[in-house]
Amino acid sequence: MAGRLYICATPIGNLEDITLRAVETLKKVQLIAAEDTRHSKALLSRYDVHTPVTSYHEHNRFEKAEVLLERLKAGDDIALITDAGTPVISDPGEVLVARAREEGIEVLALPGPCAMIAALSVSGIPGRRFCFEGFLPADNTGRRAVLEELKDEPRTVILYEAPHHLKGTLKELAKALGERRIAVCRELTKLHEEVLTMTLPEAAAYYEENEPRGEFVLVIEGKPAGQAAAETAAAWQEMPLAEHLQYYLDKGLPQKEAMKQMAKDRNTTKREIYNELLKEDSE
Ligand code: SAM
Repeated sequence: MAGRLYICATPIGNLEDITLRAVETLKKVQLIAAEDTRHSKALLSRYDVHTPVTSYHEHNRFEKAEVLLERLKAGDDIALITDAGTPVISDPGEVLVARAREEGIEVLALPGPCAMIAALSVSGIPGRRFCFEGFLPADNTGRRAVLEELKDEPRTVILYEAPHHLKGTLKELAKALGERRIAVCRELTKLHEEVLTMTLPEAAAYYEENEPRGEFVLVIEGKPAGQAAAETAAAWQEMPLAEHLQYYLDKGLPQKEAMKQMAKDRNTTKREIYNELLKEDSE
C-alpha cells in the first residue's frame, strides 16, 4: 500500500506553536522532507523527534519530488515541513503536492501557523474578504503590473516583505494606493512582536526614520467602496449624455430603462438626465 504525504505547518517564531498532531506525525512518519534540514533541527530536537530528515527546497523541487514519490509509492509516509509556517504558502511544496495527487497518493493537511493569517487576525483591517499576494515580484515590470492591479482591488491585500526591501515597497505602495490604512505586522509570535496601524504614506515616512528589522507582513485595506463608486461615476460623467444613452439603447434597453441606468451610473436622478437630454436636443 502507498504511503501518505503530510503537509505539516510549523511555528513562525514561537516554538510552542505546533499542534499535538503535527508532533505525533513527525515522530511516526518514515521520513521528513525539510526546506532546510539544519534550520529544522532546533524544532525537531525540541520535540524529541528522531525521524530521518532529507532536504526538499526551491532548487531541487522537481527532481527531489520524483525521489520522494518513489518512497511514497513504496509505502513510506512522509511529512513535508518548511522553515516556518505552512508549506506551499510562499514556500516549497506546490510541485510535490501536485505530483503526489497526480500519482494518486493521499495528501493530508496538518494545519497550523501561517504568517498571513496570523497577521490578518490581529490587524484590525477587515478580514471578511482578502487576497494574498505573497512577495511582490522582484522585477520592475512585474511589480508595476501587480501594483496596477492592486489599485482597484476592493478586498484587503496581504503581502510578505523582507526587511531590506520594506522601505522601497512602502514608498511604492503609498504612491500607487494612496491614503489607505495599513497594519505593519512585525515578528509575530516572537519577542519583538509589533503591529503598527497607520496610513500607507505614514508607514513609508515612519520606516524612513526607523530601520526595519525582522520579518514583516503587510495588511492593507482594499479600495474603499465609496471611492470605487465615485471614480466610476466620474468616468461616466466624462461621456457625453447622448453617447451614454446610445450605449444602453445599443444593448437593447428601452429608452426609459436606459435613462434609469444612466442616472445610476452618474449618481443622479432620472429626471435630471431627462432634462439634460432635452436641453441638449434644443441646443
Ligand atoms: N510559509 C510561511 C507562512 O506560512 O507564513 C511563509 C514563508 S515566507 C518564505 C517568509 C515570509 O513570511 C517572511 O519574509 C515574512 O514576510 C513572513 N513571516 C514569516 N514569519 C513571520 C513572523 N513571525 N512575523 C511576521 N512575518 C513573518
